[in-house]
Amino acid sequence: MKTTDLQWYDLFHLNGTRRDFLRLSSSVAALLATGCYRGGDEWSLDSVSAYPFTLGVASGDPAPDGMVLWTRLAKEALEGVGALSNPVRAHFEIAHDESFTRLAQTGSTLATPELGHSAHAEIVGLDPDRWYFYRWTVGGEVSAVGRAKTAPAVGASVDELRFAFASCQHYEVGYFTSLEHLSREDVDFAVHLGDYIYEYAEHDRDTVRHHEGPEIVTLDQYRNRYAQYKSDPALQAAHAAMPWIMTFDDHEVDNNWASVFAQDDQSPEQLMLRRASAFQAYYEMMPLRVSTVRNGPNMQVYRRLNFGGLIQMNVLDTRQYRSDQPCSDGRVPTCAKHISPEQSILGSAQRDWLFEGLAVSDAGWNVMAQQVMVTRLRGETDEGDDTWAMDKWDGYPVERGAFLDHLESTAVNNPIVLTGDIHSNWVADLHTDFDDLSSPVVGTEFVGTSLSSGGDGADMTNGGRATLSHNPHIKFYNGQRGYVTATVTPDIWTSEYKVIDKVSEPGGSLSTRATFVVESGSPGVQED
Ligand code: FE
Ligand code: CA
Repeated sequence: MKTTDLQWYDLFHLNGTRRDFLRLSSSVAALLATGCYRGGDEWSLDSVSAYPFTLGVASGDPAPDGMVLWTRLAKEALEGVGALSNPVRAHFEIAHDESFTRLAQTGSTLATPELGHSAHAEIVGLDPDRWYFYRWTVGGEVSAVGRAKTAPAVGASVDELRFAFASCQHYEVGYFTSLEHLSREDVDFAVHLGDYIYEYAEHDRDTVRHHEGPEIVTLDQYRNRYAQYKSDPALQAAHAAMPWIMTFDDHEVDNNWASVFAQDDQSPEQLMLRRASAFQAYYEMMPLRVSTVRNGPNMQVYRRLNFGGLIQMNVLDTRQYRSDQPCSDGRVPTCAKHISPEQSILGSAQRDWLFEGLAVSDAGWNVMAQQVMVTRLRGETDEGDDTWAMDKWDGYPVERGAFLDHLESTAVNNPIVLTGDIHSNWVADLHTDFDDLSSPVVGTEFVGTSLSSGGDGADMTNGGRATLSHNPHIKFYNGQRGYVTATVTPDIWTSEYKVIDKVSEPGGSLSTRATFVVESGSPGVQED
């Protein structure tokens, strides 16, 4: 059994500034004066004033030797013992069994007031491809038990991997029944493609439940919004059941934001301040690694995860580095800016990183886990002019063309794009030229519907029917709620579209609406 104590160094490293270090030194003096801490482990609380783990536990970013473990300590637990402005030591145990009789590792990390008493422990030293159980302890209180699986060893041949991907969980318009079902899936991990929260003020119409407060802008408002979402037992169960790979889309900050451009009447400077609050709350509330280097209004969530030699997953950020949407952020005809080669959805650094990574990858399947639809989604004005959804890759056709050409010219193995955002299910082949169906198919895009956003939905909608008729490269549409599971072997990729009959009432039931497969080495998706 190994013991890891993440020390002050880690705290210093987390915040990384001299000012934080000084603040920390004064907290040490303050807590020595209160005398409620044990000597030698001076930030460990003997007791708390309420149950501290009200937002549950989570794990994330599985690696062959570990993962991130997360929790966050409730204010109510700390204020009654005078610890609200002090760092608090959070202890964790990792075991091979759910009853914690065979411990694999114990350790601790600091939950600091600067980071809302969130705790992130980056675990190393575990065995690859294995399930572990974990729990946290603070002041004699024990958290719920979480379950996390390590990734297969680097380069290992893997017979099969299963995971789920999901997005868009508007709290007001639907119950998190999809997450309840997802938490019971037999999968190794899950991927969240964004819209974990919605920033809007409380809806004025009748909804199944309500946001607290106005549209969120400040750190406290973002923190409270996450806390409200995370109070949902289904969301907590989904996090406890498996590690999650997280990325954000627009609503974690502001609807349809692009780089420094807000949708609302905010200046770039105001949006940067808002981003700093939004990103800090996101980091605090998610099982993310310190390597996201959150720094004020900047946070790097694009990153690469490997699952043996089977899957290389490129997690993308199509918000923070993009050019402002051209013409409009809605669905409109083209304009000069739309076809400018200067327009980018990835930003040059992320694009170079992605293109270089794909060019040298020898993984069996190369996944882009990202936010907005890559596939052309042709629409039409009343006058019969083509329209483009400018907030999606459709708004950035030059860079999309370069991406698709790159997939073709590097002959990277089996590219698969996973997408959220659009609150509906779609399956499409990625052609190098969407206007020419005889052009090469270089990959497949699986777009997963929302978990709850949009309410119950319907199997077919007018919008879905119209889009299908304009876009012959699209193979499938469905407008219900749910998520997608992927079963991946060296030979075949299978996406199962799981839908929920209703989210407007608790207890919705799950069914598999459609199953699509891609065979390794033969581009093009087929319905099973
Ligand atoms: Fe959404
Ligand atoms: Ca979105």
